[in-house]
Amino acid sequence: MKAGRLFIISAPSGAGKTTLLQMVMPRMERLVFSVSHTTRSPRPGEKDGADYFFISRTVFEEMRDRGAFLEWAEVHGKFYGTGRQEVFAWLEAGVDVILDIDVQGAAIIRDSGLADAAFIFISPPGLAELERRLRGRAQDAEETILLRLKNAEMEMQAIGNYDYLIVNERLEEAARVLEAIILAERAKMRRLPSGLPAQQQGGL
Ligand code: ADP
Ligand code: 5GP
Repeated sequence: MKAGRLFIISAPSGAGKTTLLQMVMPRMERLVFSVSHTTRSPRPGEKDGADYFFISRTVFEEMRDRGAFLEWAEVHGKFYGTGRQEVFAWLEAGVDVILDIDVQGAAIIRDSGLADAAFIFISPPGLAELERRLRGRAQDAEETILLRLKNAEMEMQAIGNYDYLIVNERLEEAARVLEAIILAERAKMRRLPSGLPAQQQGGL
């Protein structure tokens, strides 16, 4: 069976990644969202097991130390990690997986060579608009908003390491670009060292 494809999506907080994923996920088949583990508190409306697995720092450290995470990072002062087993189980079952992870986590996956992935960066149209969106979301404390804005500038410097950039200005257009990237990645010919497309291996 053909293995699933891994999609890594990163963006500064407030760029609209969650909104875009909520639009695109129901439109695509054979695609799952990997629910991460975090030590941050749930925002109003967030559900344990759907948005994140909300866990204590002690549990996080225990999982980290026994290698349960494919990658993990400290982001905006909290810990976030991707469950290793779930991701590989989906990929082996031929299902594509989306990871919503920060630029540090993306770098770990890129450098580890553990999994071949398509790297997508979602950017806001500008920092002033990012600030408007963070404030408009009205779910973070002032101190949290300031920290996220400060980190945004550093995160935007990682854009060059990604395969795709989506500027989320008009929401529907950005959602269509994300869908197009996923479809194009699925149609891509993967070449073997012999030069034959991977899809033809054993078929000639
Ligand atoms: P992220 O998951 O990247 O932190 P969210 O999806 O929570 O960001 O979006 C942050 C805020 O910006 C939300 O209030 C959302 O409704 C709003 N938003 C997202 N995309 C757009 C857009 N293209 N234009 C205007 N507002 C947007
Ligand atoms: P938020 O708290 O706004 O949901 O997410 C904050 C940041 O943490 C975002 O950049 C998000 O992509 C990142 N993040 C969420 N889950 C993970 C994860 O499992 N690993 C890493 N490295 N970053 C994550």
